[in-house]
Amino acid sequence: MFTGNWKCGGCGGAITELPFEPDPARADSLKCMDCHKKGQSDRPEKAMHEGNWSCADCGGAITSLPFEPRDTSNLKCRDCFRK
Ligand SMILES: [Zn+2]
Ligand SMILES: [Zn+2]
Repeated sequence: MFTGNWKCGGCGGAITELPFEPDPARADSLKCMDCHKKGQSDRPEKAMHEGNWSCADCGGAITSLPFEPRDTSNLKCRDCFRK
C-alpha cells in the first residue's frame, strides 16, 4: 500500500492509503474505496454502440444498441424488440 494525503474526487473524503501509486496528473480523479465500488456498480455492463438507425417495425429512431448491428435493415427498437 502507498500512504499519502489525497482527496476523493467523488465524495471529497480523505484518502490515506492506495493500493497503487497515484499519477500526480490524475490526483483529481482519485476515488476512495466506497466511491470506487459505487462507480463500478453504476457502470453499464456492456458498451453501447451509438448510431443513427431506424426501427423496421415502428420506424422510430434508434440511437444506441447493446451490440454492433450487422444487418441494419431489420433492426428493432427496444419497445418492438420486447413485443
Ligand atoms: Zn469518496
Ligand atoms: Zn419500434
